[in-house]
Formats: sequence, structure tokens, C-alpha cells
Amino acid sequence: MNDRWIDLHTHSTASDGSLTPLELIRYAAEKNLRAMALTDHDCVDGLDEAVAEGERLGIEVIPSVELSADHSGGTMHILGFFVDRRNEGFCGRLRRLQEARRERNPKIIEKLQGQGLKITYDEVVSASGGGQVGRPHFAKVLVQKGYVSSMQEAFERYLKKGAPGYVEKFRFSPQEAISAIHEAGGVAVLAHPFTLYKDTTAAIDPLLAGLSGIGLDGIEVIYSTYSPDQARYYQELADKHHLLPSGGSDFHGAHKPGIDLGIGQGRLKVPFELLEPLRKKARGYAVSSHTG
Ligand code: AMP
Ligand code: ZN
Ligand code: FE
Ligand code: FE
Repeated sequence: MNDRWIDLHTHSTASDGSLTPLELIRYAAEKNLRAMALTDHDCVDGLDEAVAEGERLGIEVIPSVELSADHSGGTMHILGFFVDRRNEGFCGRLRRLQEARRERNPKIIEKLQGQGLKITYDEVVSASGGGQVGRPHFAKVLVQKGYVSSMQEAFERYLKKGAPGYVEKFRFSPQEAISAIHEAGGVAVLAHPFTLYKDTTAAIDPLLAGLSGIGLDGIEVIYSTYSPDQARYYQELADKHHLLPSGGSDFHGAHKPGIDLGIGQGRLKVPFELLEPLRKKARGYAVSSHTG
């Protein structure tokens, strides 16, 4: 019955993936995916090309985005599916996030240079291939220069929160991120909830209750690195808090070794059936974004 799968979490060179939007969609065709969401961080620049190529190749490409939200204790990312990439208010908000990167990125260079590393911002920009510059591009240059042996090590030693090259950047509050997505006619889905807290999951229940109260629509219950127990746990939380289930690989190409499109670490399977409830919910926001 279900002979084709989907992937609702992927990145291209428009943010910090290693494949261009065109290459990504062609790769999805090779993988025989039925639908996929391009969810670049803070940016929709890859969507026109990706959607057009998807139409050509018979793969539904869901125009999407991944926004970082302010949250103490860990990392909160919120995916927006079915966003209107031409919505003016939404594009204005994304520009604010790009501005925050332009403020932050040179400061990372200064900090890395302060650690005695020979690295320039031009090198990082060229590693980004012309799209938006993010920490994985700094990591890539550190690997290329032999300062570290892997992207992971670059984050551990220099780039992760608390490491000597880390610099804070402006983020939306969870409420602002969710509202921005809704205003653009999209559904808001909490990505990889395990990154919310470093050591404990005890606080996730009240947090989800709160996020659900401010309009969160869904939660990623299928993800590349989940164990079967984790997947069950997040599905239970989805049920409890009336959140729609979503799933994806978080494919970044060569920038996240070991995670493949559609199949994650090999076991990932995201059924097409997850897509329709998300689409239906997004239609409600799209209608209100036109009338409101
Ligand atoms: P930025 O948005 O520029 O701060 O970069 C964040 C991105 O860096 C995330 O979306 C991941 O793709 C990547 N990243 C963050 N932390 C790590 C980590 N510990 N190891 C590998 N990649 C990471
Ligand atoms: Zn990323
Ligand atoms: Fe993320
Ligand atoms: Fe992601």
C-alpha cells in the first residue's frame, strides 16, 4: 500500500546543507520519495527552484522553513510547513534573522582567531557556496584546515554553546516563531524535541502544554536518530497534547555525515499519511492569513 515514503526535514545550500536545491530534489527522485519538505534555516531562498524541480520530476515539494526560537536550557527549532514564501510580513521577519547572522558571524571569526586559529570570514563564505552562512560552514573550514578531524569535533571544541567560538544571536520567542509561520499560512511543528534539554526530559510535558497553548500544531515524532522507544515516547506526547505527528531525516548532505535523505541512518520511514493532516491544518491558516 505504502510503497513511497516522504521526508519532512531537509536542508540545501540555501542554508547549511551541501546539495543545491536542484541537486536535493533530484536526489529525492533517485530515492523515490513521494513528497518532501525543504526546511532551510531562517530562509526560503531555495524554495522556488525546489518546487519547480519537484513539479518536473513528480515529487511534491512542500515549501517550508526551520526557525530557531529562544529557549533556555537547550535548542528549540520550529518547522513551518506550507508557508507562503512571498508573504511580505514573513519575508520581513526572515530578513531580521539574516541580519542577526550578519552581526554574529564576524564575531565568531574574531573568537576563533583569538584561539590562535588562522581562519578568515572569506573562507567561510566560500565554504557556504553563496547561500546563508551558518556554523556548519565554520566547521567545514576548520576540518579543511586540519584543526579538527570532523564537523562534530569542530562543534564540540569550538562552535557549540559554551565553547570558545560560540556567539549568541537574536532569535524569535517561541510565540513569535509560531505566529510568523501561521501568518504565512503554514503549520508550526516542533523539530527534534530531544534538543530542548541537555540532561533531562522531565520539563518537556509542561513546555509542550505551553507551546500547544500558544498555537504549536505538531511535533517531530519520527527522526533519523530516534530509537523505537523515543519514537513511541514522542508519539505519546503528541497524542497527549493534541499535536500532529511529523517526521523527517534532517538531511544536510556531507555536512551531517551518516544521515541520508529519506532513510536517515537507514531505518527511517516517514509515511505519506502524516502529510494530509498537516496540509489540512495549514489550509485553515492560509484562509485566515488572506482574510485577516
Ligand atoms: P546556526 O544556525 O548558524 O547557529 O547553525 C546551527 C546548525 O549547526 C544546526 O542547525 C545544525 O545543522 C548544526 N549544529 C548545531 N550543533 C551541532 C553539533 N553539536 N554538531 C553538529 N552540527 C551542529
Ligand atoms: Zn542545519
Ligand atoms: Fe534543527
Ligand atoms: Fe534541520
